[in-house]
Amino acid sequence: MCGIVGYIGGQEAAPILLKGLHRLEYRGYDSAGLALVNQSGDLNVYKCKGKVSDLEDYLMDKDATGTIGIAHTRWATHGIPDNVNAHPHFSRSGKIALIHNGIIENYRVIKDALIANGYTFRSNTDSEVLVNLIEYVRDTHGCSLEEAVRVALKQVVGAYAIAILEKDNPDEIIAARQSSPMVIGIGNGEYFLSSDAASIIDYTNDFVYVKDGEVAIINRHKPLSIVNLDNQPASIDITKLELSISELEKGGYDHFMLKEINEQPRTIFDCIRGRISPETGEVKLSGVTDNREKFINARRIIFVACGTSWHASLIGEHLIEDICRIPVEVEYASEFRYRNPIIRPDDIVIAVSQSGETADTLAAIRLAKEAGAFVYGICNVVGSSIARGTDSGTYIHVGPEIGVASTKAFTGQVTVMAMLALAIGKERGTVSDEYYREVSEGILSLPDKIAEVLREDEHIAGLSKVFTYARNFIYLGRGYNYPAALEGALKLKEISYIHAEGYPAAEMKHGPIALIDAEMPTVVIATGQDTYEKTISNIEEIKARGGRIIALVRKGDTRILGIADKVIEIPEITECLTPILSSIPLQLMAYHIAVCKGRNVDQPRNLAKSVTVE
Ligand code: GLU
Repeated sequence: MCGIVGYIGGQEAAPILLKGLHRLEYRGYDSAGLALVNQSGDLNVYKCKGKVSDLEDYLMDKDATGTIGIAHTRWATHGIPDNVNAHPHFSRSGKIALIHNGIIENYRVIKDALIANGYTFRSNTDSEVLVNLIEYVRDTHGCSLEEAVRVALKQVVGAYAIAILEKDNPDEIIAARQSSPMVIGIGNGEYFLSSDAASIIDYTNDFVYVKDGEVAIINRHKPLSIVNLDNQPASIDITKLELSISELEKGGYDHFMLKEINEQPRTIFDCIRGRISPETGEVKLSGVTDNREKFINARRIIFVACGTSWHASLIGEHLIEDICRIPVEVEYASEFRYRNPIIRPDDIVIAVSQSGETADTLAAIRLAKEAGAFVYGICNVVGSSIARGTDSGTYIHVGPEIGVASTKAFTGQVTVMAMLALAIGKERGTVSDEYYREVSEGILSLPDKIAEVLREDEHIAGLSKVFTYARNFIYLGRGYNYPAALEGALKLKEISYIHAEGYPAAEMKHGPIALIDAEMPTVVIATGQDTYEKTISNIEEIKARGGRIIALVRKGDTRILGIADKVIEIPEITECLTPILSSIPLQLMAYHIAVCKGRNVDQPRNLAKSVTVE
């Protein structure tokens, strides 16, 4: 959610900060700002509501010079998105500027105490309270800024990634984090700071991940120093990251989302590379082989996730119950963490998150660990908090996902879950050789079959135009494709702002059928073999009520072709992998409808890419 960038070194800071903010735009935000100390020692803050490009326009006639600076994109939690609430925030004296991602939960108590001490506030944010608390501590203790930050943070409850600049010390940035991402890039005589290493990858490959409860002192003339809130030195581990810059750009597509949809043959290839032998079909996941006993003896698996990752987990539930015969539960991380769940030491908790920074999922992991469960992570961002905070796991390796609506991460997650189910099933002896082979060959065939689905793009774009009028949609699916229906509906909601609901097809009769008329199209995923006849009956029922049908069918299906208004074919593949193929036309349909409606596809309103607050 939102982002921070910082720079200190020999170059002009503003271009680096603005480029970094652009790279963080995918996270979702409503305003942007930066603070710089110029050569004459002035601390200048510029900020505005709107996009980073609005900030750039605003800066045109301003003094944006200085070789030290901090910058921010805000996703409002306290106070409306406007120029005043945008970050950075000054302290009362105007000598300290702070940017903050996250939420200070106890800001009200602190604010009241500061008001009682004569402080006044310009904004409604919790962040302005923090910068004033820091100044108050520094003034009353007569201590350094760094010490004041540590003392102030001890009084704070909440989540934060903060960076602070002081007018009188233009050689130093103080940064700290708790439950919000933060990474420091080490350059040659310069330092970079960001919420996401990808935003500063142009300048360095050496990164230090700041951990929860740590404060970094980033001084122009000194080696990096990191301490905890008790001023004990923390270890500084440098991680090397190789990311290609082309992965962060649109590569000729109109939107990141379209690029990412079209990348899926390659991203799925990357996801399975080195994990399934093309010769023998054998699956090797080190996370499973290294923890064989845990998986063999697991009494239950609990998936914890949010949003799209939760839908992927529902498919994971089918796969694991089917192939490994272990009971599985799928929980919204936000519900799980607050409801005193029963977790036992022989449970395995699998945390699923694209960013690896989802606040609720991180909290669920902590709870599971406290209860002694083995925690496994499935995430995309290498070195993310979930990757570091779990006992073991598997990266999906689909490359940076910039479009806010997740596409390639979803198919990557499901692919990892299919491999995971095979690897565990093999260890437990619950899968026949024949079925193992069928599924692993199916996984190996995914890149080609996804490419085949993508060749339907023009057809899908054409039919999407026809349905742009609709204000409501229903998506139906069964078995493995019920979660695909949920995910299809979510995609449409997210980027076109059309209300859409996913339902298990047979449940339609228990309520939603009342909504069916010519105004409300129904998308039916009719690829399942076991329930094929029943799904045909559902389609007939909808037609009988004047409803319009877009059906996803197996290639060569002529029966549904005769009943549905529009048909999209997907290639033949073993049943448990069909949701990977069926999700792709639904991604394209959501994309084309949103484009027809003139929506901002990559940055839909009110949404954030990486939800790092509760
Ligand atoms: N809570 C802060 C605010 O509303 C920071 C929000 C953010 O993470 O950008 O300004």
